[in-house]
Amino acid sequence: MQSINPLNGEIIRNYTNHTIEEVTNKVEAAHLAFQQWRITSFENRSKLLVQLANVLRKRKDELAVLMANEMGKPVAQGIAEVEKCASCCEYYAENGPDFLNDQLIKTEAQKSYVSFQPIGVVLAIMPWNFPFWQVFRFLCPAFMAGNTAVLKHASNVPGCALVIEELINEAGFPNDIFHTLLIDSKEVDKVIEHPFISAVTLTGSTEAGKKVAAKAGSLIKKTVLELGGSDAYLVLKDADVKKAAETCVTSRLINSGQSCIAAKRFIVVKEIAEEFIGHFKSIMEHKKIGNPLENGIDIGPLARIDLRDQLHQQVQKAIANGAKCILGGEIPKMDGAFYTPTILTEITAENPAFYEEFFGPVAQIYVVNDEDEAIKIANSTSFGLGGAVFSQDSKRAEHIANNELEAGSCFVNAFVKSDPRLPFGGIKESGYGRELGLFGIHEFVNIKTVYIS
Ligand code: NDP
Repeated sequence: MQSINPLNGEIIRNYTNHTIEEVTNKVEAAHLAFQQWRITSFENRSKLLVQLANVLRKRKDELAVLMANEMGKPVAQGIAEVEKCASCCEYYAENGPDFLNDQLIKTEAQKSYVSFQPIGVVLAIMPWNFPFWQVFRFLCPAFMAGNTAVLKHASNVPGCALVIEELINEAGFPNDIFHTLLIDSKEVDKVIEHPFISAVTLTGSTEAGKKVAAKAGSLIKKTVLELGGSDAYLVLKDADVKKAAETCVTSRLINSGQSCIAAKRFIVVKEIAEEFIGHFKSIMEHKKIGNPLENGIDIGPLARIDLRDQLHQQVQKAIANGAKCILGGEIPKMDGAFYTPTILTEITAENPAFYEEFFGPVAQIYVVNDEDEAIKIANSTSFGLGGAVFSQDSKRAEHIANNELEAGSCFVNAFVKSDPRLPFGGIKESGYGRELGLFGIHEFVNIKTVYIS
């Protein structure tokens, strides 16, 4: 396994993959650690999560540089990501005990209630785009609930994967409560098959999700899947157009466009289309592309050169099928996996781009006659992760967000973001199950009924 800097193609470090024996030992150690961890008090778990938050904050600059080097994230965004992980630790340290308390349910029994019991070792398969956040948003509720975990991180971020194990140890968690497995995705099936693996969570592409869920399903092991998205943002005719354009660009360019919940399709009603496109284009073209270690950079290199090339091919295919490119659409003349902010318009339902996720700084803008058509196009996708509606009539926008858009999260006059307090996840091919909030901590527990006659 290698870390390759997407800024210049240099090999940062070579790593030796773990052998099957090493993987088995780590899974077994996590299982043994679970026997002790499951009976620890909530107070103890909360204290350790707060210590983990402190370690993250103390090392945030160094961790942001590691992300910049391994996958190109601009450092300011990396620091914000680490801080978000720390708040997630604190959120579950504070609220976890309430979420996990027994719930009394009145029946004819002397006493009947629900308790939330940990289930064991959970396998987390995580992507490179938010190398810390994706892991912590699973890990904090898992630890709080009394589970232990093993991580198969994306192959291009082994440094991040190993440092997460180090941070957990530094915070004082018991040995073996967490292990990183340096393995190829081809070896994941064997890990899922291990009898000590109780469940699997995966964040990544729909294709990887289907394979992992099929394997886990064949063994009746629960999965939570957080997959791709091609989120639609609807801009209605009474929207504050300038503000909407600013918010839409911010969302589209989060993490250089490589985010599952980044807005990817902008559906704009014809009355305000020209004004919206004017603002949108002008903001996009002023974004600064460059070395993610430098201050003031908006867009770093994409995480890998092959992902950048794949994105460029998608753009070219979209244009060949009739889309109009009004900005970008080219690989900039600089070293590294960079891609120019791009805007595509005039995409018809016959164009493959209509159905695909563009994982990079490429926006699709659709101009429609009215709200009904906007909703129809928004829902004409196999994805359903997060959408947004922009309108000054917030009641009307709320109605569309709540009742009309097919997605796991819908925001009004704001871009979709994850927040430790709110459940997060998708429908359709964007996955199932929820992370974060109360619902997230209940995914990997045995919701046990206890009945005393
Ligand atoms: P993948 O979905 O391939 O990778 C995500 C994780 O899943 C990685 O840890 C990967 O390991 C692992 N994985 C991949 N295939 C399997 C498998 N068959 N069995 C078990 N584990 C597997 O993402 P890519 O890096 O290839 O990116 C491709 C596309 O996926 C992107 O362009 C984007 O559309 C989408 N994506 C979505 C993300 C999201 O946040 N929802 C995040 C990342 C990507 P390994 O790295 O070793 O292959």
